[in-house]
Amino acid sequence: MVAQVIDGKAFAAKVRAQVADQVAKLKEENGITPGLAVVLVGEDPASQVYVRSKGKQTVEVGMNSYEHKLDADTSEEDLLALIDKLNNDPAVHGILVQLPLPKHLNEDLVINSIDPAKDVDGFHISNVGLLGTGQKSMVPCTPLGCLMMLRDYHGSLSGMDAVVIGRSNIVGKPMAQLLLGDSCTVTIAHSRTKDLPDVVRRADIVVAAVGRPEMVPGDWIKEGATVIDVGINRIERDGKNKLVGDVDYASAAERAGAITPVPGGVGPMTIACLLANTLTACCRANGLPEPEGLTA
Ligand code: NDP
Repeated sequence: MVAQVIDGKAFAAKVRAQVADQVAKLKEENGITPGLAVVLVGEDPASQVYVRSKGKQTVEVGMNSYEHKLDADTSEEDLLALIDKLNNDPAVHGILVQLPLPKHLNEDLVINSIDPAKDVDGFHISNVGLLGTGQKSMVPCTPLGCLMMLRDYHGSLSGMDAVVIGRSNIVGKPMAQLLLGDSCTVTIAHSRTKDLPDVVRRADIVVAAVGRPEMVPGDWIKEGATVIDVGINRIERDGKNKLVGDVDYASAAERAGAITPVPGGVGPMTIACLLANTLTACCRANGLPEPEGLTA
């Protein structure tokens, strides 16, 4: 079997177009422009790239982008004061604090100081609890993107066996909750899982979120399974820098029914879902119906 490639780049463009349409409608019919505030503390090069990209895509879909760049030695008090200001600013519907934060800042305290209704990353403890109890919440962007691609490919996921490899708070756990919400039978695997190959071989859906280059070989994949590769790993091969996932793409693509490539799979969906979440937050804040197909 040769797997169908799930093109995350094209899918993300479709999601952004949907968001842009809805934003235009909101402006025209309600005079509202959704706004996303991104806070960056310090000068981590990767974070700077992400923040630039988020700002650019926010403007491209017609939303307002508010960037707040703070010095690396910004005090917790000053950061919390900025978040408080953004929480109370009606023009700001989404707030994202770029992680990781410098070591002297308490990440949990900072994230939990964001108004949960504006927490477009879905990391606030209230949103974690709401998702865990199957209630309306803000859903973390990367797992939301994975869910959208799975729903698009399969239609219903009900009754499917899903294995999520990785149990982080930002990917693995929310991914498992979302799959459970769509009535999959979910297994969460991690570094202590016994006989991981056997666990993975049972799955109709495999989501790999580990951070280990090409750790999942093709012979772990059940014939016809859908493989979602969240991993982003930089490696050097043949003297060149390369980006690879957590799945060995070449061998997995020979057995899977469908697979996301790296790059061009899950990655592009993450920012598209951030924009979708900002739109959702804006609609909720204004008592308007939520955009269809862009939420969990
Ligand atoms: P974490 O490091 O927080 O979590 C990794 C998880 O993998 C842990 O639960 C760990 O288990 C598990 N793990 C580690 N080694 C093994 C192993 N040998 N067998 C089974 N499980 C193992 O990573 P994240 O969840 O933050 O990210 C995972 C990957 O996804 C990374 O490559 C990251 O770059 C990428 N990513 C991509 C995004 C995107 O936009 N596409 C967004 C976010 C992340 P244990 O808990 O037991 O230690």
